[in-house]
Amino acid sequence: MDMQQIIGQAEQNIRQALQDYRRYTTRTEVLDDVSDTFIRNLARDSSFAKQGLRELFSRSPVWDGKLDALVINGTRTHDPDYDRVRSLAIEILYPAIERAENDRDKYYRIYNAIDFFSYPYNGCLQEAGIQAIRELAPKAYEPGKKRSRVFKALCVSLGVADETAGSEFQRLYAQFADELSAKQIGFKLYVSINPAHFLTMSNPKADSRGCTLISCHSFNSTDYQYNNGCSGYARDNVSFIAFTVDDPDNPELLNNRKTTRQVFAYKPGNGLLLQSRMYNTSGGTHEAQGDSRLYRDLIQREISMLEGEPNLWKTYPYCGGHEGCVKTAGGFGGYTDWTHAEFDGKVSIRADHGHDYRPLTVGAAGLCICCGKETSEYLYCGGEEKVCEEGIRRCDSCGEICCERIEAYGRDGRSCFVCEDCLGRFYTRCEDCGEYCHNDCIRELGSGEYVCTGCMEGDGYACCEECGDYYRDEDVYSVVNEDGESVYVCRKCHEGYEECPECREYVKIRPLFRGTMCPACEAVFEGRVPA
Ligand SMILES: [Zn+2]
Ligand SMILES: [Zn+2]
Ligand SMILES: [Zn+2]
Ligand SMILES: [Zn+2]
Ligand SMILES: [Zn+2]
Ligand SMILES: [Zn+2]
Ligand SMILES: [Zn+2]
Repeated sequence: MDMQQIIGQAEQNIRQALQDYRRYTTRTEVLDDVSDTFIRNLARDSSFAKQGLRELFSRSPVWDGKLDALVINGTRTHDPDYDRVRSLAIEILYPAIERAENDRDKYYRIYNAIDFFSYPYNGCLQEAGIQAIRELAPKAYEPGKKRSRVFKALCVSLGVADETAGSEFQRLYAQFADELSAKQIGFKLYVSINPAHFLTMSNPKADSRGCTLISCHSFNSTDYQYNNGCSGYARDNVSFIAFTVDDPDNPELLNNRKTTRQVFAYKPGNGLLLQSRMYNTSGGTHEAQGDSRLYRDLIQREISMLEGEPNLWKTYPYCGGHEGCVKTAGGFGGYTDWTHAEFDGKVSIRADHGHDYRPLTVGAAGLCICCGKETSEYLYCGGEEKVCEEGIRRCDSCGEICCERIEAYGRDGRSCFVCEDCLGRFYTRCEDCGEYCHNDCIRELGSGEYVCTGCMEGDGYACCEECGDYYRDEDVYSVVNEDGESVYVCRKCHEGYEECPECREYVKIRPLFRGTMCPACEAVFEGRVPA
């Protein structure tokens, strides 16, 4: 694919992602504001920025060009976490434990029974546990019976089982049974440089299916400033996003239902990998560390294989010694999880670059979702105002924000946009050209109409020689004044003129000592005024 095709594909991916992202949420105001300019700018910037990573990743047999991502098939083994088994068992049996408070034997038997489930490799505790279970629930235990079923029978006997669908007991028991079983789980890990996946890195807020994996990066929210980082990560050279989804066979879930996600950063040929915070659907740290280790391992193998280097990495916590490895780009508006020790960010250095790796610069300024210009917090360039500056309309005359502005022409004859208030006070509509013009540039005609000076400079208007008012050409009359000059006067002033019976001009008859004279033809009318 050449760069134009890559950009076109990215644009399509972003549009699809935004459609998917809004499908189940009622909160769409932000998504409604996303403009074509934003989409085009992000597609272009991101495609160029990630080209180094794309060249590296696209050599992999598991590269998916359309998705702009590696799709790695992984298997995770789930080994029981016996501390969690124990705490779940105590939580489930707590009502029975409470009831046994005055029955010491029973009280200890319950704890012995719990030991049976949480210390499977301790022979003494197993024996004591079986004994206790037999006394508490005679039919619950049989050799070889599945442990989760033994536990269920124990719960029934102790009166804590609540078989109502959706009950608290059912919920906790499901977790208990799940935790107790060791299993292999196949999954697909998407390792993506696709800007669509950055935009949707956290799932939508107000999701009708129930919210999972939402964060301050959720793209349909203006609650926090950090979702600026969605486009900010997409515009840097080094970030990529690793994630899993509920069901990899349903493509929309890639954009609206991630189950884990973690931002990584790598510069090809540099041997330094940053791994940021693991976000998952439970929101807790359980499983997160195991998944983190697994994703890191899969990604390290892939990168080493692609760069033809031995897969030998040393991994350190970012906080407490390796802060120098990563810089945050100026203008980046996302939340830098890796800089907080509690989120367990990691830095891995590959042996071949142990001494010559260069620090990574992570992040870039984000883009305003309206005007598509760079901005470093929130989704709009107006920052905290949560509006696009471009979208803010101000009156060119008074400077106030206004929702509707009307085009007008100022004193200098240039076009401007003013509020209704100013329009009414300082501007008048020209009856000729129909434009609103500044009052200084408007003349009132003798007829009461208003016309701009621009229009009056052209043909079609005349000044009445008598009263000095302006009129349209068709409203003035040609007359001869007392000095014998041909001039125009208005209809009203025209009434003071009379038709000369000799020359037929309208004239002001000039009075003589005896009689009158036509100033046009100089005919003399003795002793009378012409009719
Ligand atoms: Zn577990
Ligand atoms: Zn803007
Ligand atoms: Zn105004
Ligand atoms: Zn307004
Ligand atoms: Zn005009
Ligand atoms: Zn006049
Ligand atoms: Zn005459």
